Amino acid sequence: HSVMERILQRRSLRMRNMQRAWQESPEGRKMMDFRKSLPAFKEKEMLLQAIARNQVIVISGETGCGKTTQLPQYILESEIESGRGASCSIICTQPRRISAMSVADRVSAERGEPLGEAVGYKVRLEGVKGKNTHLLFCTSGILLRRLLSDHNLNGITHVFVDEIHERGMNEDFLLIVLKDLLPRRQDLRLILMSATLNAELFSNYFGGAPTIHIPGFTYPVRAQFLEDVLEMTGYKLTSFNQIDDYGQEKMWKTQRQLVQRKRKNQITTLVEDALNKSSFENYSSRARDSLAHWMPDCIGFNLIEAVLCHICRKERPGAVLVFMTGWEDISSLRDQLKAHPLLGDPNRVLLVTCHGSMATSEQKLIFEKPPPNVRKIVLATNMAEASITINDIVFVVDCGKAKETTYDALNNTPCLLPSWISKASARQRKGRAGRVQPGECYHLYPRCVYEAFAEYQLPELLRTPLNSLCLQIKSLQVGSIGEFLSAALQPPESLAVQNAIGFLKMIGALDEKENLTNLGTYLTMLPVDPKLGKMLIMGAIFHCFDPVLTIVSGLSVRDPFLLPQDKKDLAGTAKSRFSAKDYSDHMALVRAYEGWKEAEREGSAYEYCWRNFLSAQTLQAIHSLRKQFSFILKDTGLVEEDASNNNKLSHNQSLVRAIICSGLYPGIASVVHRETSMSFKTMDDGQVFLYANSVNAHYETIPYPWLVFGEKVKVNTVFIRDSTGVSDSILILFGGALACGVQAGHLKMLDGYIDFFMDHNLAECFLKLKEELDKLLQK
Ligand code: ADP
Ligand code: MG
Repeated sequence: HSVMERILQRRSLRMRNMQRAWQESPEGRKMMDFRKSLPAFKEKEMLLQAIARNQVIVISGETGCGKTTQLPQYILESEIESGRGASCSIICTQPRRISAMSVADRVSAERGEPLGEAVGYKVRLEGVKGKNTHLLFCTSGILLRRLLSDHNLNGITHVFVDEIHERGMNEDFLLIVLKDLLPRRQDLRLILMSATLNAELFSNYFGGAPTIHIPGFTYPVRAQFLEDVLEMTGYKLTSFNQIDDYGQEKMWKTQRQLVQRKRKNQITTLVEDALNKSSFENYSSRARDSLAHWMPDCIGFNLIEAVLCHICRKERPGAVLVFMTGWEDISSLRDQLKAHPLLGDPNRVLLVTCHGSMATSEQKLIFEKPPPNVRKIVLATNMAEASITINDIVFVVDCGKAKETTYDALNNTPCLLPSWISKASARQRKGRAGRVQPGECYHLYPRCVYEAFAEYQLPELLRTPLNSLCLQIKSLQVGSIGEFLSAALQPPESLAVQNAIGFLKMIGALDEKENLTNLGTYLTMLPVDPKLGKMLIMGAIFHCFDPVLTIVSGLSVRDPFLLPQDKKDLAGTAKSRFSAKDYSDHMALVRAYEGWKEAEREGSAYEYCWRNFLSAQTLQAIHSLRKQFSFILKDTGLVEEDASNNNKLSHNQSLVRAIICSGLYPGIASVVHRETSMSFKTMDDGQVFLYANSVNAHYETIPYPWLVFGEKVKVNTVFIRDSTGVSDSILILFGGALACGVQAGHLKMLDGYIDFFMDHNLAECFLKLKEELDKLLQK
């Protein structure tokens, strides 16, 4: 025991010496000067005392005041200084991967150490940390995962939960679990950090925990609304040509485009009225809804371009931050701006993007100072609203929308719609412009629309499907899912909980009594959506691992097939070249990926991507995710080290199709052929449309009675993204009762079908399935 203590003491001493040496070095001093200038520094002693005296505290403060980078660091420094460095262990959660990574990078730099020394990070499937790491930035999902296996968080001394004002699902979930844990770990310290001022809500949840506000300073920012912006730029909304798509998925089928065009003309009039009339409230609620829905179309990229030109030509120096709804829009706008004589000139404009899936090298660009006389323009998602602070922003352009998933419990469909932000978000966006001097904010919507915004956004727990969450709750062994969730800050409706439980039962992750099945237990080990996790496990069991691995990785990253605005047809044709008449977007993905690997070996990857409208960056991301999934699957023992065995049946197309079906079920639509057209109906009899870049959208007929699909998205009407044609027999064997419930009863019940399904080698597969699933069941 005392040997252990001596080792700890010695390590603590070494940590203290290193810290002091850095703080006294010239660079260290310079860094300290910057850190001392942050508003959080003035409150440092008070904060340290409050944390020492209270088990839970809530801290709020203006974005950029130093909460994330400074507060966990203060604890670390003070523990090291008082000789307890080696025994402290601090965790700070972030809602997004990218912030966990960039903050850890920043804090290491502030401490003059390489990443992975005292400070590290861990995000899904990736991380940099070492045995000397005492401050770990991780996503909230990672901490939840750790809680699954370590119910008491042994060894952890401090937990920071950051950005709680966002009310992300994982954060709300974490708070339930941590609240339950606190009585068992009296020595554990919990610090909640939030940007806005609804600290009371959280304080009350933790029985009146003390709240501390860090006062900050920002310069005044002038808000201008659409009416002012139009006057300022001389931009006219009247002609249809100036209205282009914004914030909408751009994959309409042709007949829908016509309808859309007609609506747009009506909406233009509506927007003009909104600009002239004093209040949005004067409209009927239906007109308001449709205005809210169509507004972004009217705004369009061209207006953003006009505003940016205005700033570059007429305004004082200072960087510009443009809030957009998502990655697709950001990249299309970037392409458009690159072609512009002024905005695309690298000697005058430094154009950078900021979104959840950007590369680390790109991240650094955001903080970089441009050369003199070059204006920095950052195109960002709402990530730049609170979690990333760019200091030199003077101008903000706010489209007023954010893409958020909403969830309609009645129809059990997640919707991914760009929807209006809240007043709190609009204020937050505006505030980004006043960090270094007085700023300007251009809201691209009329003032009366702003007046109609909700005060705060609905918590994520109340607007997303709860499938993954419920599975995780089960593995926490905390009893009934419904009861557990009723302890949330704002509990979800019971219908949403019932839907999730029903889904988990249907895919065979839970049994009738809501207990985890063996399949369910495996699924909790895989950091993916339960459906995709199941597909991976099935791919492993059936020895067709590689193609399934590519599909699952592709579905969890994003579509590598690009669809540039002006070359939709060419891009569509390029994609269908990969389909080889197998009526499957998923197989097209596999071929595209394999072709890319091949081209890489030959050194022609660049041309390959260019010719086939593929994103090299996405393919690379898929490639690394594949490796990581493969590693985890080997770790759980579900696939063997020997690759050849795992892929014995990979060439069997019907089998791969069947595995896709087993994962995506119950995402199925029946193919209804009429004389001249085809339509698609889901299980609940709802009509769905195919995205125009689906390979299946290019056929006149589809020789399969069913399409299985991964995602159903509501964008005005319901669309399905990627789909694969499957036969009746596949559906019954792999989608139906058997693959649904990996249960002995079901297996017996289906014995009678064996003779019936002799096509596509499925009888053999079926026997194999039965045998393997039985084995899985026994494990
Ligand atoms: P908060 O969490 O309160 O919003 P942060 O701790 O994230 O604030 O940021 C504090 C300050 O550190 C900000 O002024 C920000 O500009 C600066 N900062 C944060 N990350 C970086 C970075 N990677 N490079 C340069 N400056 C940074
Ligand atoms: Mg922060």
